Formats: sequence, structure tokens, C-alpha cells
Amino acid sequence: MTKCLKIKRIGLSDKTRFEVFKRDKFMCQYCGAKAPDVVLNVDHIKPVADGGNNGLLNLVTSCRGCNSGKSDRLLDDASAVSASRAQADSLQERRQQIQMLADWHIGLECCEPEIDAINALLNKLANVSVSTDECRAHARKLIKQYGLSEVMHSITAAYNQYVKDEAWGKIPAILRWRKVEQENPKLHTCLKELSSATYRLNRHPQYYGECARLITKWCDSSLVKFDVNVLYIIGECKSVARTMYQMREAFTRWDAEVEKVTASMGKK
Ligand SMILES: [Zn+2]
Repeated sequence: MTKCLKIKRIGLSDKTRFEVFKRDKFMCQYCGAKAPDVVLNVDHIKPVADGGNNGLLNLVTSCRGCNSGKSDRLLDDASAVSASRAQADSLQERRQQIQMLADWHIGLECCEPEIDAINALLNKLANVSVSTDECRAHARKLIKQYGLSEVMHSITAAYNQYVKDEAWGKIPAILRWRKVEQENPKLHTCLKELSSATYRLNRHPQYYGECARLITKWCDSSLVKFDVNVLYIIGECKSVARTMYQMREAFTRWDAEVEKVTASMGKK
């Protein structure tokens, strides 16, 4: 019996286990213990032996202690079951609450009122709506990450600034920029300068000197030294430089400059 249960548990994919842990915020849903204080398992709310499946709704995060307690109880003989009836009742209560918690999370997943609000806005701005599952999932992700108000603001900005076909795709970048602007104004200025330099460099190769100067300037500022966005933009500069420069000398100079800055940023 023990062997059988173990085999079933091992049968859960890592992806499923991760989804359950994320949903439960990596916390044992029976006792509240959190990883990494305890080793977490994924437990079946309705046991596999009783026909419980491997769906996310039937899975819950539990610590090893709570999990083994439950297994022992399930494996107990009849006399021990009667002795632990009170415990079983309270476990049942907990299970119900866990089911509610799971329902609550599922509700959060849906964000239906928020999606409705977004659709009303999209309808007004451009006579479009978020209709496919893929788009809805994308919108939910943005809402969770940035909040409805920021998403609505960025949608408005996108549809005012870009043509209809492009606007939707611009929203994540607008959200990222706004977040950086609010949380780190200096970094925002840095990224703006660098990306506009990259933009110019794309069209006018002679700007490579200015790009290099800006990168050096900003990377000397300790504030932005290890920011992933800066590294990304430097990568962009570099790839632009690679494609633009036929002249070996100019390219080598540029590349040496970028390598120097990138290397200094990599040091911690
Ligand atoms: Zn526990």
C-alpha cells in the first residue's frame, strides 16, 4: 500500500508540483510551515486510493511531517482510526478550507471583472477586445504583475500612441518602462538615453562613439551597474554595431569598448 501511494506521488510531473507549490506560496497548507524550513510534498486532497486525480484542484502543498501523519492515518487499522477520529474531523475541516483556498486561487486566476473592464476600454479606444484564451491569459498575467490600474493606463497610452495593429504588442514594454520610472528614476533616465542611442546607431553608424560614451557614463554609476535591462540594451548596441560596421577598425574599437564595460559590469 505504501509502495503504491509512493509510486502515484512520484508520478506527478515537476511542472505540476511547481504549479501547486506556487499556488500555495510554498507553504504547507495543513500547518503553515514554509519552505525551506520544511521539505514540502504535494498531497492529494482526495486520496488516489479513493479515486482522487492528479488535477491541480485535488493537489495541495504539505510538509513532510503533515504528509506522513496523513499517510499513517490512512494506513491505520480500524482500532487506531476510531482513536484518531477527532483528528480526522479536524483534518476534514482543514481539507474543506483548503478546497476553499484552492477555489479562491482559481478565482484569482480568472480576473473576470478586470478582463471585462479592459475589454470595455479596448472597445472604446479601438473597437477591439481581448477574446482568445491566449490573449486573456496574457492580460491576466499583466494584471497580476502590474495591477489593473497600471494595465489600463498603459493600454490607453498604447492605443493613443501606436496604430491599432501594433498597440497591443507595445503594452508590456510600456508597463515595464512605467514601473522602472516609478521605482528607479535614475535607471529610467539611463535606459532612455541608452535605447535612444541604440535607435540612432541603427540608422547612423557614426553614433557609435556617443553610444560608447553613454554606456561608459552610465555603467560607472553604481546604481545601474548590475541591472539586467542595462545589460540587455548593451547587448542590443553590440549586435547593432556588429551588423553595421564593415570597417574592421571601427568595429574593433567599438567592441573593445563594449567588452570592457560588460566585463566591469559582470564583476561583483
Ligand atoms: Zn505541515
